[in-house]
Amino acid sequence: MNQERLEQQLNDLKKQLISLGMAIPGSIQTAYLRCGKKNCRCQQDEKLRHGPYFLWYRRVNGKTATQSIAEEDVHLFRTWIDNREKLEALVQKIISLGADYAAFLKLPPENRKIQGTQCAESKIKGIKG
Ligand SMILES: [Zn+2]
Repeated sequence: MNQERLEQQLNDLKKQLISLGMAIPGSIQTAYLRCGKKNCRCQQDEKLRHGPYFLWYRRVNGKTATQSIAEEDVHLFRTWIDNREKLEALVQKIISLGADYAAFLKLPPENRKIQGTQCAESKIKGIKG
């Protein structure tokens, strides 16, 4: 592990972040529903319920919010949900990389392969000294 490699990994992750599009929380589920009409076929048999309806579920202020979406928008919503999952995975990778970097800074300076700019720690030492 060296600083150049850590910076390169961070740059790769940043490029992946930039390439992501819109991201939304929640999930999409397909539902078959009963209507309010007493004599409707949907009241008699589960298989005769209305639908499919496409519902987007998400948490808003601790409660589940539901929004019905048009069938033609399902693909778009799924893409945005996939983007959010990729975004969350990328954020975790950056945080994990940061932990590696922090562990790297714990090494004595003579064991680090510092390249290019000074690291933050040596700048602080420079101010004190
Ligand atoms: Zn019905």
